Amino acid sequence: MSDKQSSVLLIYTGGTIGMKEDPADQTLRPFDFGSLMKEVPELNKFGLRIDSLTFDPLIDSSDIEPGMWRKLASTIRDNYTRYDGFVVLHGTDTMAYSASALSFMLENLGKPVIFTGSQLPIGRPRTDGKENLISSVEIAGARRPDGSPVVPEVCVYFNSLLLRGNRCTKVDAAGFGAFQSPNLPPLAEAGIDIRYNTDVIRRPSGKEFRIHSGLDTRVSILKVHPGITQQVVEDILLGSLTRAVIIETFGCGNAPSRDWFLDIVHQSVANGMILFNVTQCLRGSVNMDLYATGRALKDAGVLCGYDITTESALGKLFYLMGNYDDNQTVKSLLEQDLRGEMSN
Ligand code: ASP
Repeated sequence: MSDKQSSVLLIYTGGTIGMKEDPADQTLRPFDFGSLMKEVPELNKFGLRIDSLTFDPLIDSSDIEPGMWRKLASTIRDNYTRYDGFVVLHGTDTMAYSASALSFMLENLGKPVIFTGSQLPIGRPRTDGKENLISSVEIAGARRPDGSPVVPEVCVYFNSLLLRGNRCTKVDAAGFGAFQSPNLPPLAEAGIDIRYNTDVIRRPSGKEFRIHSGLDTRVSILKVHPGITQQVVEDILLGSLTRAVIIETFGCGNAPSRDWFLDIVHQSVANGMILFNVTQCLRGSVNMDLYATGRALKDAGVLCGYDITTESALGKLFYLMGNYDDNQTVKSLLEQDLRGEMSN
């Protein structure tokens, strides 16, 4: 084991975790990050070097934009050689989107990037923020006997579970167990010890780490539902300013089989639109060979999203379209597993 002290950079972007009750008017306000170590003295017990960096402005994560992802990616790149791991404090509402996007933007990542947050501010007596933060820091600084990081992935840590970032989704608006990755076991579970699921954790490629900041956001999401109208489907699938549509389908990838629906899908593909089939179900995978309705989509040129989450599909499309101008390359990479985001 290398005896060099591990170092972790905490990047604070906003969200509930960092808010504190202002005694004057009892409203929640962003926390003075300089006093974090005072608020969470347990962090000193790891023997890690912990530095922090606060984004300005701090935001509720409902306001997250790709610009913030670029800033996060470049912050990690600029500090990559100085730290063993990174902890990103982030609001829970869009954490799964940010973790997914970052997993694609950070290529050949060899260090942990752990997103965490909380349902209750860190200053509240029953806060979940302390445990989330403390364990995230421990995981970000954890090294194997050969000195390499235990979890060189973009992850979300929440309520004792370490989840792959591009596999997780927010499933609870109020409970402490806010995140799940329904199609992949946790990368670790924290109990008395942190038990790492080493069979699931990806190892680095060994190639040079680099970031991708080009993101093409011309993506729409069409959630099919009983009673969906022709006008709505046309507006989305034939939109001239859109390059790709995630079609959130029923079950294992099924959509209405009415003629008008399939005609629009055909026309959309003929117009050059990239159509990506992602299931509305939390668990399980798209399989367009199972039912005639799914097969009709496949025959029309709709691509299979297997068990990818919508959050991850969005990040993958932004990233691929931002990096490749030709749709053929985007389409062939969409159906490949690039960062452990899907089982195909
Ligand atoms: N609205 C908050 C946010 O996402 C909620 C939270 O942090 O839990 O920033």
